[in-house]
Amino acid sequence: MKRIYLLFVFLAFLILPAALATADEKGSRGKPVVVIDPGHGGADIGVMLTKDLHEKDLTLAIGKQVQEYLGSKGKIDVVMTREADRDASMEERVRSAVKSRADLFVCLHVNAGFAKDTSGFEVYFPGFKTPTKTSDDSGEIVKDMISTRSLNESVRFSQLLRRQMEIVFPRRDRGLRTSSVRILTRLAVPAVALEMGFATNERDKDDLTDAKRQREIAQAVGKSIEEYFGGGAP
Ligand SMILES: [Zn+2]
Repeated sequence: MKRIYLLFVFLAFLILPAALATADEKGSRGKPVVVIDPGHGGADIGVMLTKDLHEKDLTLAIGKQVQEYLGSKGKIDVVMTREADRDASMEERVRSAVKSRADLFVCLHVNAGFAKDTSGFEVYFPGFKTPTKTSDDSGEIVKDMISTRSLNESVRFSQLLRRQMEIVFPRRDRGLRTSSVRILTRLAVPAVALEMGFATNERDKDDLTDAKRQREIAQAVGKSIEEYFGGGAP
């Protein structure tokens, strides 16, 4: 049994990457699909930046600018989990990833800290799962490999995103972190959450509420998505 099991794993490794690459990067549509997930919405306002600007507003505004940026290039299809200020459950957000057969899922958020001097951006990816060692259920093995690939791809995208964000906010990279954000671990596709800055820090808040800086963040996110799919951002 053991030898057959190993043979299966080996064959799966040979066959799966090619099959996944076709399904993920090209699909039947011919264009990769990215889902942009503006955090919060509706009654869930998120953190407060100013009296009139909450996290839910900023994530939506920047999400829409990412959509515009990528839309103007026409090489990547963009799906938004919400396009208005409304409640959107986690289930609904996950569903839009499944329905659109997403290749990449990007959550946008704003941080808040207890200390006012805590500042900078953070990129989260779903934590690595411990591989199933003893299971010889083929379904489990395949599922495990798909999620391992998703995790590797999440990390690859995280690095591209961090590099682009570092151009906008030099020396404000707080590093790559594994996520406790539940939505990330629920998705079977590469998924990353960007915490764009701290609402509790004056400098970050000034930047996040500045229209020019918002455009720069959106472009950084857009460019990293282009790079991820090999679109060749300059
Ligand atoms: Zn948030």
